[in-house]
Amino acid sequence: MAFESLSDKLQDVFKKLKSKGKLTEKDVTAALREVKLALLEADVNFKVVKSFIDKIKERAVGQEVLESLTPGQQVIKIVHEELIDLMGSTQSKLTFSSMPPTVYMMVGLQGAGKTTTSGKLGGQIKKMGKKPLLVACDVYRPAAIKQLQVVGSQVGVPVFSIEDSKQPVEIAKAALEYAKANHNDVVIVDTAGRLHIDEKLMNELEEIKSAVKPQEILLVVDAMTGQDAVNVAESFNEKLGIDGVILTKLDGDTRGGAALSVRSVTQKPIKYVGLGEKLEDLQPFYPDRMASRILGMGDVLTLIEKAQQSFDAKKVSALEQKFRKMEFDFDDFLEQMQQVKKMGPLNQILGMIPGMNTQKLGDIEVDEKEIAHIEAIIKSMTKEERKDPSILNGSRKRRIAAGSGRDLQEVNRLIKQFEQMRKMMKQLSDMTKGKKGKFKLP
Ligand code: GDP
Repeated sequence: MAFESLSDKLQDVFKKLKSKGKLTEKDVTAALREVKLALLEADVNFKVVKSFIDKIKERAVGQEVLESLTPGQQVIKIVHEELIDLMGSTQSKLTFSSMPPTVYMMVGLQGAGKTTTSGKLGGQIKKMGKKPLLVACDVYRPAAIKQLQVVGSQVGVPVFSIEDSKQPVEIAKAALEYAKANHNDVVIVDTAGRLHIDEKLMNELEEIKSAVKPQEILLVVDAMTGQDAVNVAESFNEKLGIDGVILTKLDGDTRGGAALSVRSVTQKPIKYVGLGEKLEDLQPFYPDRMASRILGMGDVLTLIEKAQQSFDAKKVSALEQKFRKMEFDFDDFLEQMQQVKKMGPLNQILGMIPGMNTQKLGDIEVDEKEIAHIEAIIKSMTKEERKDPSILNGSRKRRIAAGSGRDLQEVNRLIKQFEQMRKMMKQLSDMTKGKKGKFKLP
């Protein structure tokens, strides 16, 4: 996950600061020197680091902060605010044209994730209730059209292409006509990339730009390339003019330098981040939430949103009833596990919990395989066994173990854990209803 080591280092620096109580200017200067090193190691652009540290220093060594009761906390608050500011303050949403179709032109180097991201974006825009059209303008890479068709069909968004045409400008123009005739209110144009920025590419993009007059030009850059991504963004912005950046592969970028520098260097906001290869792994970029995550304050808002998207309120309430009546069975257990899985990889979810240090999570190893084993065991039970685990005798357990390919001990352990969980859930739900449970509320 992004920012692992930066996050760790910053949290160490602040732990020291907080433990000090009273702070002197020297303490703050020393701490900021460590912050600076941590940012440079995270591959943040050095000019960005310098101005960032200068700003914090100016605010943090004032009398007000140093003489406050919690100077350490105050410094952290300032760093938090400046980090948010560095990444653009507020979420920068896509804008829509008042005269549909709204055209988004996707640009970027080859391999940055343009085609995948075009598909992901199409899917998200469709979820907003719009009728997007994807347009295949990458005429040089033979597989590009096919690739866009595949992602398009996965998200249920149509793809416009002209198989044997080598004229991206003509394709783009024809696509606009098609969109108008078919009431597509959003058009996402996937353009060709190159390995490096060159004149020819820029000229072609210029031509497409003047032909389709995009509402926004979205530059797709690969976060894993660090400062190269920032340089690419700077060049595209100078030559073509961009409206926003989509930073892909943040899931594989442990340093985070591009995410922290792009906005400050180009003055253009990061609008979305790619956090994986799956189509749902494109998320709007929230500077405040990202800053909180970097400083180990968690990202509870995203966690809640993910939970809301994955859990059905009616089901949750039905489940509560089951807990209370001790009717919660292995089928419910399995369904719960699947719901939680829908929220995304466990490591990603846990990283959003305040105080969870993703670096340390690496040691804990959230084992997705173990979940698969549990699933296999439950699926090897008969309907009756899942409904009423009390009938699980020795021979049934042995059959389940053989059926799921797990050993008997593991089956026993799961049944025991399930029973314990069932009891605890009942106590908890009784307690929240004010009934007398084993636990007493203070
Ligand atoms: P294009 O040449 O710019 O169109 O790039 P593609 O869309 O073909 O993507 C290149 C590779 O990057 C593909 O294997 C994608 O699955 C992968 N990719 C794209 N976005 C992400 C992301 O956010 N995270 C990860 N891990 N991989 C991604």
